[in-house]
Amino acid sequence: MLLSINGIRKSFGETQALRGIAFDVAKGEIVALLGPSGCGKSTLLGIIAGLEEPDSGSVIWEGGNLAGTPPYKRGFGLMFQDYALFPHKNVRENITFGLRMARWEQDEINQRVAEVLDLVGLPQFGSRDIATLSGGEQQRVALARSLAPRPHLLMLDEPLGSLDRALRERLLSELREILQKTQQTAIYVTHDQEEAFSLSDKVVVMNQGRAAQIDSPNAIYRKPVNAFVAGFLGMNNIFEGHIAGGIIKSPIGNLPAPKGSTGDVTFLIRPDTIRLDGLGPQHLEGVVITRTFRGEQCRLEMEIQANRLSFSLPSSETQIPQIGELTQIDYDPTNTIQILSK
Ligand code: ADP
Repeated sequence: MLLSINGIRKSFGETQALRGIAFDVAKGEIVALLGPSGCGKSTLLGIIAGLEEPDSGSVIWEGGNLAGTPPYKRGFGLMFQDYALFPHKNVRENITFGLRMARWEQDEINQRVAEVLDLVGLPQFGSRDIATLSGGEQQRVALARSLAPRPHLLMLDEPLGSLDRALRERLLSELREILQKTQQTAIYVTHDQEEAFSLSDKVVVMNQGRAAQIDSPNAIYRKPVNAFVAGFLGMNNIFEGHIAGGIIKSPIGNLPAPKGSTGDVTFLIRPDTIRLDGLGPQHLEGVVITRTFRGEQCRLEMEIQANRLSFSLPSSETQIPQIGELTQIDYDPTNTIQILSK
Protein backbone atom coordinates (compact mmCIF):
# COMPACT_ATOMS: atom_id res chain seq x y z
CA MET A 1 0.00 0.00 0.00
CA LEU A 2 1.28 3.48 -0.86
CA LEU A 3 -0.22 5.28 2.15
CA SER A 4 -1.75 3.83 5.31
CA ILE A 5 -3.46 5.95 7.94
CA ASN A 6 -3.55 3.91 11.14
CA GLY A 7 -5.69 4.72 14.17
CA ILE A 8 -4.94 8.45 14.20
CA ARG A 9 -6.08 10.36 17.26
CA LYS A 10 -5.75 14.07 17.86
CA SER A 11 -7.24 16.35 20.52
CA PHE A 12 -7.13 20.10 20.95
CA GLY A 13 -7.79 20.62 24.65
CA GLU A 14 -11.22 19.08 25.27
CA THR A 15 -12.00 18.70 21.57
CA GLN A 16 -11.34 15.26 20.14
CA ALA A 17 -10.81 16.19 16.49
CA LEU A 18 -9.75 12.68 15.37
CA ARG A 19 -10.79 9.52 17.20
CA GLY A 20 -8.92 6.63 15.67
CA ILE A 21 -9.37 7.08 11.95
CA ALA A 22 -7.82 4.53 9.58
CA PHE A 23 -7.81 4.01 5.80
CA ASP A 24 -5.46 3.21 2.91
CA VAL A 25 -4.61 4.98 -0.32
CA ALA A 26 -3.29 2.94 -3.26
CA LYS A 27 -0.97 4.33 -5.93
CA GLY A 28 -2.93 6.39 -8.46
CA GLU A 29 -6.08 6.31 -6.33
CA ILE A 30 -8.23 9.40 -5.68
CA VAL A 31 -9.65 9.23 -2.17
CA ALA A 32 -12.23 11.74 -0.94
CA LEU A 33 -12.56 12.69 2.72
CA LEU A 34 -16.22 13.64 2.96
CA GLY A 35 -17.96 15.01 6.02
CA PRO A 36 -19.61 18.01 7.62
CA SER A 37 -17.68 21.00 8.88
CA GLY A 38 -15.78 20.17 12.08
CA CYS A 39 -15.53 16.40 11.52
CA GLY A 40 -11.72 16.54 11.43
CA LYS A 41 -10.89 16.61 7.71
CA SER A 42 -8.42 19.51 7.79
CA THR A 43 -6.76 18.22 10.94
CA LEU A 44 -6.19 14.89 9.22
CA LEU A 45 -4.72 16.56 6.13
CA GLY A 46 -2.40 18.57 8.37
CA ILE A 47 -1.21 15.36 10.00
CA ILE A 48 -0.60 13.61 6.67
CA ALA A 49 1.24 16.69 5.40
CA GLY A 50 3.38 16.75 8.54
CA LEU A 51 2.12 20.16 9.71
CA GLU A 52 0.60 18.58 12.84
CA GLU A 53 1.68 15.67 15.02
CA PRO A 54 -0.95 13.04 15.91
CA ASP A 55 -1.41 12.17 19.62
CA SER A 56 -1.30 8.51 18.60
CA GLY A 57 -1.52 6.40 15.46
CA SER A 58 0.74 6.52 12.43
CA VAL A 59 1.05 7.69 8.84
CA ILE A 60 2.87 5.00 6.86
CA TRP A 61 4.26 5.84 3.42
CA GLU A 62 5.55 2.93 1.30
CA GLY A 63 6.00 0.91 4.46
CA GLY A 64 7.92 3.57 6.43
CA ASN A 65 6.58 5.59 9.37
CA LEU A 66 6.57 9.33 8.58
CA ALA A 67 6.68 10.39 12.25
CA GLY A 68 9.38 13.05 12.55
CA THR A 69 9.70 13.60 8.77
CA PRO A 70 9.21 17.34 8.15
CA PRO A 71 6.66 18.47 5.53
CA TYR A 72 9.19 19.46 2.87
CA LYS A 73 10.83 16.02 2.96
CA ARG A 74 7.53 14.19 2.41
CA GLY A 75 7.24 15.32 -1.21
CA PHE A 76 3.48 15.92 -0.90
CA GLY A 77 1.60 18.76 -2.56
CA LEU A 78 -1.21 20.79 -1.02
CA MET A 79 -3.88 22.89 -2.65
CA PHE A 80 -6.28 24.93 -0.54
CA GLN A 81 -9.50 26.77 -1.23
CA ASP A 82 -7.76 30.15 -0.96
CA TYR A 83 -4.93 28.88 -3.08
CA ALA A 84 -2.86 32.03 -2.46
CA LEU A 85 -1.26 32.65 -5.82
CA PHE A 86 1.28 35.49 -5.70
CA PRO A 87 -0.84 38.36 -7.08
CA HIS A 88 2.07 40.45 -8.32
CA LYS A 89 3.79 37.66 -10.20
CA ASN A 90 2.73 36.27 -13.54
CA VAL A 91 1.49 32.73 -14.19
CA ARG A 92 4.92 31.31 -15.06
CA GLU A 93 6.56 32.88 -11.98
CA ASN A 94 3.87 31.43 -9.76
CA ILE A 95 4.50 27.95 -11.12
CA THR A 96 8.29 28.12 -11.15
CA PHE A 97 8.61 29.40 -7.58
CA GLY A 98 8.41 25.96 -5.96
CA LEU A 99 10.61 24.37 -8.62
CA ARG A 100 13.35 26.95 -8.02
CA MET A 101 13.09 26.35 -4.28
CA ALA A 102 13.58 22.64 -5.03
CA ARG A 103 16.62 23.59 -7.15
CA TRP A 104 15.40 22.30 -10.49
CA GLU A 105 17.58 23.06 -13.55
CA GLN A 106 16.32 25.91 -15.77
CA ASP A 107 15.74 23.59 -18.76
CA GLU A 108 13.67 21.22 -16.69
CA ILE A 109 11.69 24.13 -15.27
CA ASN A 110 10.86 25.51 -18.71
CA GLN A 111 9.76 22.14 -19.95
CA ARG A 112 7.67 21.38 -16.87
CA VAL A 113 5.90 24.78 -16.92
CA ALA A 114 4.90 24.21 -20.54
CA GLU A 115 3.70 20.70 -19.67
CA VAL A 116 1.52 21.66 -16.72
CA LEU A 117 0.03 24.71 -18.45
CA ASP A 118 -0.89 22.44 -21.33
CA LEU A 119 -2.37 19.92 -18.91
CA VAL A 120 -4.71 22.49 -17.31
CA GLY A 121 -5.69 23.94 -20.67
CA LEU A 122 -3.85 27.27 -20.39
CA PRO A 123 -0.91 26.82 -22.80
CA GLN A 124 -0.66 30.52 -23.77
CA PHE A 125 -1.02 31.96 -20.28
CA GLY A 126 2.62 31.95 -19.04
CA SER A 127 3.16 35.70 -19.11
CA ARG A 128 -0.32 36.77 -17.96
CA ASP A 129 -0.61 38.61 -14.65
CA ILE A 130 -2.60 36.75 -12.00
CA ALA A 131 -4.84 39.80 -11.49
CA THR A 132 -6.07 39.56 -15.09
CA LEU A 133 -7.34 35.97 -14.75
CA SER A 134 -10.88 34.81 -14.00
CA GLY A 135 -11.58 32.74 -10.86
CA GLY A 136 -11.63 29.52 -12.89
CA GLU A 137 -8.34 30.36 -14.62
CA GLN A 138 -6.70 31.17 -11.29
CA GLN A 139 -7.91 27.87 -9.96
CA ARG A 140 -6.31 26.07 -12.91
CA VAL A 141 -3.03 27.92 -12.37
CA ALA A 142 -3.11 26.87 -8.72
CA LEU A 143 -3.60 23.27 -9.85
CA ALA A 144 -0.74 23.59 -12.36
CA ARG A 145 1.45 24.97 -9.59
CA SER A 146 0.68 22.10 -7.23
CA LEU A 147 1.21 19.46 -9.96
CA ALA A 148 4.47 20.99 -11.26
CA PRO A 149 6.89 19.39 -8.74
CA ARG A 150 5.31 15.96 -9.43
CA PRO A 151 4.15 15.41 -5.85
CA HIS A 152 3.99 11.79 -4.68
CA LEU A 153 0.62 12.67 -3.17
CA LEU A 154 -1.57 15.67 -3.93
CA MET A 155 -3.91 16.86 -1.18
CA LEU A 156 -6.74 19.17 -2.16
CA ASP A 157 -8.70 20.91 0.60
CA GLU A 158 -12.09 22.18 -0.70
CA PRO A 159 -10.30 23.48 -3.82
CA LEU A 160 -13.52 24.44 -5.62
CA GLY A 161 -15.33 25.83 -2.59
CA SER A 162 -15.31 29.47 -3.61
CA LEU A 163 -16.44 29.02 -7.21
CA ASP A 164 -19.97 29.25 -8.57
CA ARG A 165 -21.88 26.06 -9.28
CA ALA A 166 -21.59 25.90 -13.08
CA LEU A 167 -17.84 26.53 -12.99
CA ARG A 168 -17.40 24.04 -10.17
CA GLU A 169 -19.09 21.31 -12.18
CA ARG A 170 -16.95 21.99 -15.22
CA LEU A 171 -13.70 22.10 -13.26
CA LEU A 172 -14.66 18.97 -11.37
CA SER A 173 -14.77 16.84 -14.51
CA GLU A 174 -11.58 18.48 -15.82
CA LEU A 175 -9.87 17.85 -12.52
CA ARG A 176 -10.80 14.19 -12.57
CA GLU A 177 -9.49 13.85 -16.12
CA ILE A 178 -6.20 15.57 -15.24
CA LEU A 179 -5.63 13.51 -12.11
CA GLN A 180 -6.40 10.28 -13.98
CA LYS A 181 -4.28 11.17 -17.00
CA THR A 182 -1.26 11.82 -14.78
CA GLN A 183 -2.14 8.88 -12.48
CA GLN A 184 -1.79 11.33 -9.64
CA THR A 185 -2.46 9.86 -6.23
CA ALA A 186 -4.73 12.34 -4.45
CA ILE A 187 -6.71 12.99 -1.30
CA TYR A 188 -9.61 15.34 -1.88
CA VAL A 189 -11.31 16.99 1.09
CA THR A 190 -14.86 18.22 0.75
CA HIS A 191 -18.19 18.57 2.56
CA ASP A 192 -20.00 18.23 -0.77
CA GLN A 193 -21.13 14.70 -1.59
CA GLU A 194 -21.56 15.44 -5.30
CA GLU A 195 -17.94 16.55 -5.51
CA ALA A 196 -16.71 13.53 -3.58
CA PHE A 197 -18.81 11.09 -5.60
CA SER A 198 -17.98 12.43 -9.03
CA LEU A 199 -14.25 12.76 -8.44
CA SER A 200 -13.04 9.90 -6.33
CA ASP A 201 -12.41 6.16 -6.57
CA LYS A 202 -13.01 5.76 -2.85
CA VAL A 203 -14.82 7.86 -0.28
CA VAL A 204 -14.10 8.03 3.44
CA VAL A 205 -17.27 9.42 5.02
CA MET A 206 -16.21 11.09 8.27
CA ASN A 207 -18.28 11.77 11.35
CA GLN A 208 -16.84 13.31 14.52
CA GLY A 209 -13.27 12.23 13.93
CA ARG A 210 -14.06 8.69 12.80
CA ALA A 211 -14.67 6.96 9.49
CA ALA A 212 -18.38 6.16 9.31
CA GLN A 213 -18.05 4.32 5.99
CA ILE A 214 -15.24 3.64 3.50
CA ASP A 215 -16.18 2.40 0.06
CA SER A 216 -16.64 3.28 -3.61
CA PRO A 217 -19.07 6.14 -4.31
CA ASN A 218 -21.48 3.69 -5.89
CA ALA A 219 -21.43 1.28 -2.96
CA ILE A 220 -21.97 4.08 -0.45
CA TYR A 221 -24.87 5.47 -2.45
CA ARG A 222 -26.46 2.04 -2.87
CA LYS A 223 -25.97 1.00 0.72
CA PRO A 224 -25.27 3.68 3.31
CA VAL A 225 -24.38 1.81 6.51
CA ASN A 226 -25.98 3.99 9.14
CA ALA A 227 -28.35 6.88 9.76
CA PHE A 228 -25.52 9.43 9.73
CA VAL A 229 -24.28 8.42 6.26
CA ALA A 230 -27.80 8.11 4.84
CA GLY A 231 -28.75 11.51 6.26
CA PHE A 232 -25.57 13.10 4.96
CA LEU A 233 -26.43 11.85 1.46
CA GLY A 234 -29.81 13.53 1.76
CA MET A 235 -31.76 10.31 2.44
CA ASN A 236 -33.96 11.40 5.30
CA ASN A 237 -36.60 8.68 5.46
CA ILE A 238 -35.14 7.05 8.53
CA PHE A 239 -37.47 5.32 11.00
CA GLU A 240 -37.31 3.08 14.04
CA GLY A 241 -39.23 -0.17 13.88
CA HIS A 242 -39.60 -3.65 15.30
CA ILE A 243 -39.37 -6.78 13.17
CA ALA A 244 -41.30 -9.93 14.01
CA GLY A 245 -42.64 -12.59 11.67
CA GLY A 246 -41.25 -10.91 8.55
CA ILE A 247 -43.06 -7.63 9.23
CA ILE A 248 -41.61 -4.30 10.38
CA LYS A 249 -44.01 -2.52 12.71
CA SER A 250 -43.19 1.14 12.21
CA PRO A 251 -44.63 4.64 12.65
CA ILE A 252 -45.63 4.66 8.97
CA GLY A 253 -47.38 1.30 9.14
CA ASN A 254 -46.56 -2.38 8.77
CA LEU A 255 -44.03 -3.03 6.04
CA PRO A 256 -42.43 -6.21 4.66
CA ALA A 257 -39.10 -6.79 6.44
CA PRO A 258 -35.88 -7.49 4.51
CA LYS A 259 -34.63 -11.04 5.13
CA GLY A 260 -32.25 -11.73 7.97
CA SER A 261 -33.22 -8.99 10.45
CA THR A 262 -35.25 -9.25 13.61
CA GLY A 263 -36.00 -7.19 16.70
CA ASP A 264 -35.58 -3.43 17.03
CA VAL A 265 -34.15 -1.82 13.93
CA THR A 266 -33.45 1.54 12.32
CA PHE A 267 -34.37 1.48 8.68
CA LEU A 268 -34.20 3.64 5.60
CA ILE A 269 -36.80 4.03 2.88
CA ARG A 270 -34.84 5.02 -0.21
CA PRO A 271 -36.31 8.07 -1.93
CA ASP A 272 -35.21 7.00 -5.41
CA THR A 273 -37.16 3.75 -5.83
CA ILE A 274 -40.67 5.03 -5.11
CA ARG A 275 -43.21 5.29 -7.94
CA LEU A 276 -46.68 6.72 -8.27
CA ASP A 277 -49.52 4.30 -8.92
CA GLY A 278 -50.60 2.74 -5.69
CA LEU A 279 -51.90 -0.37 -7.41
CA GLY A 280 -48.98 -2.69 -6.61
CA PRO A 281 -48.88 -5.14 -3.72
CA GLN A 282 -46.72 -2.80 -1.63
CA HIS A 283 -48.08 0.66 -1.36
CA LEU A 284 -48.33 3.55 1.05
CA GLU A 285 -50.85 6.32 1.24
CA GLY A 286 -50.46 9.89 2.48
CA VAL A 287 -51.09 13.55 1.81
CA VAL A 288 -48.54 15.56 -0.15
CA ILE A 289 -47.29 18.45 1.98
CA THR A 290 -44.38 19.86 -0.04
CA ARG A 291 -43.51 19.81 -3.71
CA THR A 292 -40.17 21.23 -4.85
CA PHE A 293 -39.08 21.48 -8.46
CA ARG A 294 -35.40 20.56 -8.79
CA GLY A 295 -34.67 20.48 -12.50
CA GLU A 296 -34.77 16.87 -13.69
CA GLN A 297 -36.56 15.77 -10.56
CA CYS A 298 -39.45 16.91 -8.45
CA ARG A 299 -39.09 16.28 -4.73
CA LEU A 300 -42.23 15.52 -2.77
CA GLU A 301 -42.92 15.11 0.91
CA MET A 302 -45.88 13.09 2.05
CA GLU A 303 -47.38 12.89 5.50
CA ILE A 304 -48.20 9.37 6.64
CA GLN A 305 -49.67 9.00 10.13
CA ALA A 306 -47.95 12.22 11.32
CA ASN A 307 -44.57 11.14 9.85
CA ARG A 308 -42.88 12.56 6.79
CA LEU A 309 -41.69 10.53 3.84
CA SER A 310 -39.82 12.21 1.00
CA PHE A 311 -39.23 10.91 -2.50
CA SER A 312 -38.41 12.12 -5.98
CA LEU A 313 -40.27 11.75 -9.25
CA PRO A 314 -38.96 12.60 -12.71
CA SER A 315 -40.19 16.11 -13.57
CA SER A 316 -41.38 14.68 -16.90
CA GLU A 317 -43.97 12.64 -14.98
CA THR A 318 -47.31 14.10 -16.03
CA GLN A 319 -49.32 13.29 -12.92
CA ILE A 320 -47.19 14.81 -10.15
CA PRO A 321 -49.63 15.27 -7.28
CA GLN A 322 -50.47 18.69 -5.87
CA ILE A 323 -50.00 19.83 -2.27
CA GLY A 324 -52.90 18.56 -0.18
CA GLU A 325 -53.62 15.66 -2.54
CA LEU A 326 -54.17 12.20 -1.06
CA THR A 327 -51.66 10.04 -2.93
CA GLN A 328 -50.72 6.38 -3.21
CA ILE A 329 -47.17 5.29 -3.94
CA ASP A 330 -45.69 1.93 -4.84
CA TYR A 331 -42.35 0.58 -3.77
CA ASP A 332 -40.29 -2.51 -4.36
CA PRO A 333 -39.52 -3.71 -0.82
CA THR A 334 -36.21 -5.41 -1.64
CA ASN A 335 -34.67 -2.21 -3.00
CA THR A 336 -36.55 0.38 -1.01
CA ILE A 337 -36.28 -0.77 2.60
CA GLN A 338 -32.74 -0.98 4.00
CA ILE A 339 -31.80 -1.82 7.57
CA LEU A 340 -29.18 0.56 8.99
CA SER A 341 -26.67 -0.20 11.71
CA LYS A 342 -26.95 1.81 14.90
P1 ADP B 1 -13.12 20.09 9.22
O1 ADP B 1 -11.89 20.33 8.38
O2 ADP B 1 -13.78 18.78 8.94
O3 ADP B 1 -14.08 21.23 9.18
P2 ADP B 1 -11.28 20.46 11.44
O4 ADP B 1 -10.24 19.40 11.28
O5 ADP B 1 -10.94 21.83 10.98
O6 ADP B 1 -12.64 19.96 10.75
O7 ADP B 1 -11.70 20.54 12.97
C1 ADP B 1 -12.07 19.44 13.75
C2 ADP B 1 -12.35 19.89 15.18
O8 ADP B 1 -11.14 20.28 15.81
C3 ADP B 1 -13.27 21.10 15.25
O9 ADP B 1 -14.08 20.95 16.39
C4 ADP B 1 -12.31 22.26 15.40
O10 ADP B 1 -12.93 23.33 16.11
C5 ADP B 1 -11.21 21.63 16.22
N1 ADP B 1 -9.89 22.25 15.93
C6 ADP B 1 -9.22 22.17 14.78
N2 ADP B 1 -8.02 22.82 14.86
C7 ADP B 1 -7.95 23.31 16.11
C8 ADP B 1 -6.96 24.06 16.85
N3 ADP B 1 -5.81 24.42 16.28
N4 ADP B 1 -7.24 24.39 18.11
C9 ADP B 1 -8.40 24.02 18.70
N5 ADP B 1 -9.37 23.29 18.08
C10 ADP B 1 -9.15 22.95 16.81
